[in-house]
Amino acid sequence: MSCPFDFEHYRELLEAAQAGGYRFAFFEGEPREGNLFLRHDVDLSLEAAVRLAELEAEAGARATYFLMTESNFYNLASGEGERALARLRELEHRVGLHAVYPRVQRDERFDPVLAWHNPDPDYMREPVDGLVNVMQEPWFSPETYRSDSNQHWRSGCPHEELRAGAFPWLQLLTHPEIWAYPGETMSETMHAMLDAERERRVGQLRADKIDI
Ligand SMILES: [Zn+2]
Ligand SMILES: [Zn+2]
Repeated sequence: MSCPFDFEHYRELLEAAQAGGYRFAFFEGEPREGNLFLRHDVDLSLEAAVRLAELEAEAGARATYFLMTESNFYNLASGEGERALARLRELEHRVGLHAVYPRVQRDERFDPVLAWHNPDPDYMREPVDGLVNVMQEPWFSPETYRSDSNQHWRSGCPHEELRAGAFPWLQLLTHPEIWAYPGETMSETMHAMLDAERERRVGQLRADKIDI
């Protein structure tokens, strides 16, 4: 099986996990045998996050979406942000804080769970007061963690190991925009996202009664 970063293969990943006997888990209790923690750091696109959240709900999967309050790319306080939050909740996913160190601006929109955005190694695994830091023990260990950073699996796509039940449990970090937009490389995917972004911006200008 080839492993493209697209929704079809993401669905295959979920099916493989289900065939391997994994259960979708949240960062609440400590990891147990057979847990699969689906983690999504939403760096760039709420639209991509909502589309992935809908796919997961259809597949019977539940994930934790980490959203930013100080993103350069989206505004969680906007109407679009509020609708995205409401939709994620409606689909029964969890919502965590994707924070920029050292600020922890958690409010009632977020469950008590945090993932740092682009963290430095010196604080990445440190506990945070009142919250689960997903990179602290016992929720993180290198053998039970896979990430799609920059559209690249450092240790390979985990679908075969999931299907074989090879992980005792797994934290699987994926970035929705990588899967939602087409492209063979991160660069191509980002350009596809930017093309879509232009359309979205034009729509926002019209909604703001700008004569475009
Ligand atoms: Zn794969
Ligand atoms: Zn991030």
